[in-house]
This record gives sequence, structure tokens and C-alpha cells, in this order.
Amino acid sequence: FAHREGVIWLDGEFVRWQDATLHVLTHALHYASSVFEGIRVYGSKIFRLTEHTERLVASAAELGCVLPFTVPELDRAASELAARNGMVDGYLRPVAWRGSETMGIGAPGTSAHVAIAAWEWPEVFEPGAKLDGISLHVSRWRRPPPECAPVRAKGAGQYAIGTLARNEAEAAGAQDALLLDHRGHLTEATGANLFLVVDGELHTPVPDCFLDGITRRVVIGLARSYGIRVVERHIPVGELESASEVFLTGTAYEVQPVRSIGGLTHASASRPGEVTRTLAFRPGEVTRTLADAYAKLVRS
Ligand code: PMP
Repeated sequence: FAHREGVIWLDGEFVRWQDATLHVLTHALHYASSVFEGIRVYGSKIFRLTEHTERLVASAAELGCVLPFTVPELDRAASELAARNGMVDGYLRPVAWRGSETMGIGAPGTSAHVAIAAWEWPEVFEPGAKLDGISLHVSRWRRPPPECAPVRAKGAGQYAIGTLARNEAEAAGAQDALLLDHRGHLTEATGANLFLVVDGELHTPVPDCFLDGITRRVVIGLARSYGIRVVERHIPVGELESASEVFLTGTAYEVQPVRSIGGLTHASASRPGEVTRTLAFRPGEVTRTLADAYAKLVRS
């Protein structure tokens, strides 16, 4: 990724892609003192830009880090960056981090930095995945409780769990991981929120120990506008069996149907060696309605 053509916005300047480099003794590299965003551009328009920028600033604040740019300044930088890179459809990646003034774990007085990169990213999964759905694997890694991690921040530290879970899922032959929380309730995938369709209603976990996605909130609003009842609640993993449809939502994933969920022995904390079960789902009417409505909205 470091050797591409293009322009990156770095601390207020537009620099050549290959020149956007940092020192190895950057605090963020050692202690995960960084936060980031993922934003999509549709038809040269940036979807929900200010919400993402506000979340970046709020994530940094959760880590005690004040950014040296305002939300309007960062919004302008993102818009100009997309234009300079000639972006019609693509992805923006703002990232903020603590600099290299100290190797102490505590970081008072360290400088805060912000960069924004932009690249083409048409689909996360293979062509056809939006119709057929993807396979998930319930991970043995769990989302920590809010007392143990800054769970409201989109912080790099939390993604260490995501990387482990995703690698484990792929090694098991699935496309993404489904993570439970410390209580054994359903949470989300590695980069997207989770919805179940139960008796025609939309059920989604309460985001009290994982990211309350911007797409999640948009899809909840769309569902209500279609008269679909939305229920936010704690959902034990066993309730997957009563779902007729399952899908994920996220900036990158958009509305992504799920066709199977495996690895359910971890989920039920059953005895080692117990046969792993896999549940199958078919993207149905509710998923399709919301996927179509979301696809229309992002280009409206
Ligand atoms: N959870 C995680 C862990 C994520 O990385 C993302 C992607 N940002 C989401 C949920 C979905 O959030 P959003 O809809 O704001 O992209």
C-alpha cells in the first residue's frame, strides 16, 4: 500500500503518496494511540462525511488526544483530497495518532497528527457476495466490556482483536468472523454491525461494547421508514437459530447478507471436541429491501 501513485493529506499539506511516512518511534506504533475512520465516496459525493469526521474527533478524545484541526477543516481536507485524486467512487481513510516525542506509555504533551488517504475500493467481498451472502465463523475472541477498553472509540487497539478473529475465521474457511461479547451475546463482525430478521422484525445488538456504526443507524432509520419494527436488545448467540435472515452493515460492507454462520461450538461455550454446527440463511425480503434502499440513498 505504501507504493502507490496519488496524494495524501498529512497534517495540513498535500504530499505525494510515497512521501507520507513516519518515524519508527511513533507513540501510536508502539501503544496503539491512534484512531481512524472509513468513509465511502459515491459519484464524487462523500457519504455522511461530517458524521465520520465528528466520530474521528470523538474517538481521539476517548483516548485523551485533542486533534489540531477542527471538524470543518478536516471536512474540507477530505473533500479536496477526493477531488485531487480524481475520486468518483472510492474510500477515504482519515487516521489520527500521537507523535514521536516520547516512548513513555503515558503521553501528555505528545503531538497529535492527522492524515487522510483515498483509494479505489469497489467491493469488500467477491462479485456475487451481495446477492448470495457471505460465510461467518463465530470467533473464540470476544469483544471486551466497556470497563476494559475504550469501546466507543474507533481505535486501532481494538482492531488487534479483529485481525486475530478474521485470520481465525479465514483459516476455518469462512469469509469473516462474528464476535461475541464478554457475556456471550452477539456483537458484530470485524468491520460491520449485525442484524437479524426474526418474525419479520429487525433485531440488532445494543452497541454497549462495540462500535455503533453510522451505517447501522442509517439502516435502522430506513427500516423504520418502511414500517419494519426495529428492536435493539442483548441477543444471546443461541438466538441465531430463530433468525430467518442475517446481514451486516458498514461503510465498506454496505448492506451485506450472510449465508452461513459456523463455529458455533465456541459460541455456546460447550465442551471441547463437540461437533461444530453451521447455520444457513438465505438473503430474504427484508435484507433485499434495506440493501436496495441503502444503495439508492448513498447515491441520492
Ligand atoms: N464495527 C467495526 C469494528 C467497524 O470497523 C465498522 C466500520 N467502521 C463498523 C462496525 C461499522 O461502522 P460504520 O457503519 O460507521 O462504517
